[in-house]
Amino acid sequence: MYKLLGDYHTHTIYSSGFKKKGTHATGTIEDNVEAAFRLGLDTVVISEHGPGHYLYGLREENLPWIKDEIKRLNEIYQPKGLKILLGIEANIIGLDGTLDVSEDFVEQLDILLMGYHYGATPIGLRDAYRLYWTTQISKLFDSKAEHAIDIMTEVYLKSMDKYKIDIITHPGSKAKVHIDEVAKKAFKVGTALEISSKHDELSVESLLKIKDIPVELYVNSDAHQPSRVGDVQKGIDKAISSGIEMNRIVNIKWEVD
Ligand SMILES: [Zn+2]
Ligand SMILES: [Zn+2]
Repeated sequence: MYKLLGDYHTHTIYSSGFKKKGTHATGTIEDNVEAAFRLGLDTVVISEHGPGHYLYGLREENLPWIKDEIKRLNEIYQPKGLKILLGIEANIIGLDGTLDVSEDFVEQLDILLMGYHYGATPIGLRDAYRLYWTTQISKLFDSKAEHAIDIMTEVYLKSMDKYKIDIITHPGSKAKVHIDEVAKKAFKVGTALEISSKHDELSVESLLKIKDIPVELYVNSDAHQPSRVGDVQKGIDKAISSGIEMNRIVNIKWEVD
């Protein structure tokens, strides 16, 4: 049995890029907060896609509104036991580990999440080629696969050197990495890894590979609709199947019955 304490990865209508709000993720901030409150969570993180993603990214001009709304909701919900945190799911856009967030931007956040996604604008041509093209080619040719994994692993490690990342979302989904190397580095710098309930990674296979590396883990919904806030069952199931210590998952309280 487990009790979910917080959902550290949820999206709202502000994850919509240049498109109409609500086309990628459908709930308002208040919708996600109400859902978290109904579940009795003590923390919910509003983590839109990073501003460098042209289809789904947060538009930076919306940040002041979001901050105001989170402040307003915290005044209502904190006395009732629910804390709302402002996060972002930043995108990798450079081979040197650069993310699509400035220092000023990061300073305004409570928590920094990072994930690899297609569709974020890379900082240069070489970055575009290696970050996106190599990954795609590697899916067609086995001979290229290992090379692509090496490149992506290196980029993840460099990101952790460059930024104080709190959680890496779905590590290894969309582009594979050497998960043991990522986990070792994450443990060293105090970054946690996510067991996603929406994406494959961390998978049972990956969890087995990092069983002996004591990196912190989170199990998150990655909800794009309010009805999915707090829905972490798929992640819990993967964790149980892998046999990892359940008390390594920091946002649940695990009770053996
Ligand atoms: Zn993501
Ligand atoms: Zn997400």
